[in-house]
Amino acid sequence: MTNTYDAIVIGAGAMGSAAAYYLSERGQSVLLLEQFELNHRLGSSFGYSRIIRYAYDHSQYVELMRDALPLWFGLQDALGETLYIKTGGLDFGPAYDSTLRATVDALRSSGIDHELLASNAANIRFPQFNFADDFKVLYQPDSGFIAASRTVLGCLNLARANGAIIKDHTAVETIRVDADAVEVITAIGTHSAGKLIVTAGAWAKSLLKQTGIHLPLTPLRCQLNFMAPTDMFQYEAQHCPVWIAHVSALFPETVYGIPSHGGSGFKIAFHGGPAADHPSSFSREPDASNVEDLRPFMRAFIPGIAEAPVRESRVCLYTVTPDEHFIVDAHPEYKHVVIGAGFSGHGFKFSPIIGKMLCDIALNGSTPHNDSLFKISRFAG
Ligand SMILES: Cc1cc2nc3c(=O)[nH]c(=O)nc-3n(C[C@H](O)[C@H](O)[C@H](O)COP(=O)(O)OP(=O)(O)OC[C@H]3O[C@@H](n4cnc5c(N)ncnc54)[C@H](O)[C@@H]3O)c2cc1C
Repeated sequence: MTNTYDAIVIGAGAMGSAAAYYLSERGQSVLLLEQFELNHRLGSSFGYSRIIRYAYDHSQYVELMRDALPLWFGLQDALGETLYIKTGGLDFGPAYDSTLRATVDALRSSGIDHELLASNAANIRFPQFNFADDFKVLYQPDSGFIAASRTVLGCLNLARANGAIIKDHTAVETIRVDADAVEVITAIGTHSAGKLIVTAGAWAKSLLKQTGIHLPLTPLRCQLNFMAPTDMFQYEAQHCPVWIAHVSALFPETVYGIPSHGGSGFKIAFHGGPAADHPSSFSREPDASNVEDLRPFMRAFIPGIAEAPVRESRVCLYTVTPDEHFIVDAHPEYKHVVIGAGFSGHGFKFSPIIGKMLCDIALNGSTPHNDSLFKISRFAG
């Protein structure tokens, strides 16, 4: 028997749960299918926290954050809980770093509050850090972090309250698309709808091949670590900003971190990791060597945590595009199939606005938000 809906969403991560919520808010009958349990650890959206920030090296993301923040506040109101914890944020690195300079320019041209500090002034103001003499430190007061898993579960609860059907442990095996409808086949049934939204994270590339599209998506295995210094107080969210160190000229990658909250430990990670064709190829066991590779960075710039024990390490997946911009667009051949993918390790902060854009594109064919960076046509050829 085939069950029919207005829209089917594949994947209940940050993007699929937000899309299902906004579709259900617009009165659509929605089916959301997730291959694993809800809020599982094998994709990209599980965990305590993700950085939220205006501080981007491209004005379009600065402007997208302007559009996203009211949706975060709306989501918090709808749920009656706080998801966005404002700590202020630092971007730091050598004064010559081009990303840091472009970030300052983008904030300036968009009229977003910020301060650019010399390292000696920043060392006094943020005593957890030891900025090098030739560093510049950008402070943006609206940065902070988002409670990640609580956001996903919150969107799912709101969608369900609006009547959406959410099925976990239900992998989509086959997608069939015809001129104005779709059919998805799982091990336990077939479902059809007028619209399909594919938000399948690191699995999107293989799934979308069935619809005749080959997207340049690469899953990366990323490790995050939670340090537990004895004097945790100064590394807690009330006292310490979120931060991004633009040090890829000095270390293997950009490094970022989030202060401790609710006993999480002080999060630190490289922005990136090894690539594979499919998420099933990755070991999910954290490597002790990843923390050891981060310790020279800690000794140089955050010495108070450099010798601290690790409370926990986890593996999480990025799915990157070649230019690290997102894909938020209709399928080139089937306008009723809409794709949200390739969030390249920086998508969570935008998840409500991405969910709304996917919903706009599915229902109206376009979105009022600026999606010009996110088109599939940029990969043509
Ligand atoms: C370590 C780490 C740190 C990050 N830090 C930040 C940060 O600080 N700030 C920020 O903004 N972003 C950050 N990100 C990025 C952000 O978390 C991701 O961009 C976002 O979570 C991507 O969500 P998604 O819904 O696309 O993918 P996912 O969360 O992976 O969701 C996709 C879902 O689709 C399901 N699925 C796949 N195939 C099928 C199928 N055939 N049938 C049914 N279900 C299927 C999967 O099981 C999965 O649940 C970080 C990511 C990681 C990994």
